[in-house]
Amino acid sequence: MTVTELVSYEDALTTYDPVMGLEVHVELGTKTKMFCGCSTSLGADANSQTCPTCLGMPGSLPVVNAVGVESAVKIGLALNCSIAEWCRFARKNYFYPDMPKNFQTSQYDEPIAFDGYLDVQLEDGEIFRVEIERAHMEEDTGKSTHVGGATGRIHGASHSLLDYNRAGIPLIEIVTKPIQGAGERAPEVAKAYVAELRELIKALGVSEARMEMGQMRCDVNLSLRPKGVEKFGTRSETKNVNSLRSVERAARFEIQRHAAVLSSGGTIVQETRHFHEEDGSTTPGRIKEEAEDYRYFPEPDLVPVAPSREWVEELRKGLPELPRVRRNRLREEWGVSEHDMQSILNAGAVDLIVATTEAGADSAAARKWWMGELARRANEDGTDLAALAITPEQVARVAALVAEGSLNDKLARQTIEGVLAGEGDPDTVVEKRGLKVVSDEGALGKAVDEAIESNAAIADKIRGGKVAAAGALVGAVMKATRGQADAARVRELILEKLGVEG
Ligand code: ADP
Ligand code: MG
Ligand code: ZN
Repeated sequence: MTVTELVSYEDALTTYDPVMGLEVHVELGTKTKMFCGCSTSLGADANSQTCPTCLGMPGSLPVVNAVGVESAVKIGLALNCSIAEWCRFARKNYFYPDMPKNFQTSQYDEPIAFDGYLDVQLEDGEIFRVEIERAHMEEDTGKSTHVGGATGRIHGASHSLLDYNRAGIPLIEIVTKPIQGAGERAPEVAKAYVAELRELIKALGVSEARMEMGQMRCDVNLSLRPKGVEKFGTRSETKNVNSLRSVERAARFEIQRHAAVLSSGGTIVQETRHFHEEDGSTTPGRIKEEAEDYRYFPEPDLVPVAPSREWVEELRKGLPELPRVRRNRLREEWGVSEHDMQSILNAGAVDLIVATTEAGADSAAARKWWMGELARRANEDGTDLAALAITPEQVARVAALVAEGSLNDKLARQTIEGVLAGEGDPDTVVEKRGLKVVSDEGALGKAVDEAIESNAAIADKIRGGKVAAAGALVGAVMKATRGQADAARVRELILEKLGVEG
């Protein structure tokens, strides 16, 4: 199936109703793996963070990571789920080269959290409730690198390298119930859901949830049914989609592809599919196994997990303010529109602006710098705001220098430029580059005298009552002070010295 054979999105939606299911894997930020003491830090030499347990050696025994369980319960609570009084791990049996144990320790019919929901806000402000089926604990696999081929895929490679450092890192898998009733907005709902979930995970502090680093990835299940029909159609499952934009595109593409297949009398095969960034298309993966194929059975080497009700309630009380509530509060405090708040959120600037106000800046100034000059720079450099070499404290200091009149806007921009270039703190940059507004009245007075002297004709006009001509003298003084004077004060001085009223 190529892109040209797709049915248009609009046509697809006039005949069919999409049903969606989203499975999101989140890699927890625990210091050690889920069932052993190996480090989870990134960037270590291949296979240096492994032990007999995560390599599945005979005689090794797993032990559950308590922080992993705590994180799972927090996620479950934040998603309005019930928390199991008692649950077990299960073995999901399959062979895969990057699964050294030949099975994955997961949860099957006894997830730690179930039956919840997450409310997500769509672009027009409407709230859409996504129901959660379950959130369960499992472990990540290792990583294989295919070498010797042109594409980096296994096909055409001469050999493969295996790194088990990631094997055993805790994952939480969050599965939605079938999402119905979104209609043409299904792709938007998918994106908004993953975005909200990511904010939530970050707010809980259980993971950085960076999709570009694979810390959070989404499988998009999608099927179509003819409008008015109850029964679900056959679904496809597009695996490991790793950006918000891609989640939306994958859902959209599958709607068009399913519609093309169905409307030409074909049948959809239940299969996994790969998403391609370049053109937003998907291609077949493997025919989907049924759950029975995995021969799940309760993990005999691990004790059941039975979170006490007291502990669960304690964790519930300790939950932070949830992102949507916090966003609404900040929006009101800052007095910005829904639309502006959305831009701030999209720019990843919410926390930076908050931190800047906490460092003493007022919120308007904090927004102005982060969403203006700094957003422009981040855009130019192709990085995130948070990755810029400037801290909220430094931005607050620049704002303070502007507020006290030591810097005007132009000088403040130069100061920021210096900080970003690694020249030091704002005060150091101002000092080194000599950026302070000239507020020394003696120096200013001298510059004004010089301007009057060398522009005698203009000065005469002003004396004669043509006050508007003062602009030219102000310009001369600003030039002489390299833009570092307060223009309003310069004008006052000129008129004073020439003996005219402003
Ligand atoms: P699997 O492990 O086989 O992928 P899961 O139950 O873990 O199965 O996840 C399937 C996801 O797809 C869930 O989110 C579920 O709500 C959703 N889903 C199930 N059936 C359909 C369907 N016919 N169309 C769309 N989504 C579906
Ligand atoms: Mg699945
Ligand atoms: Zn280990």
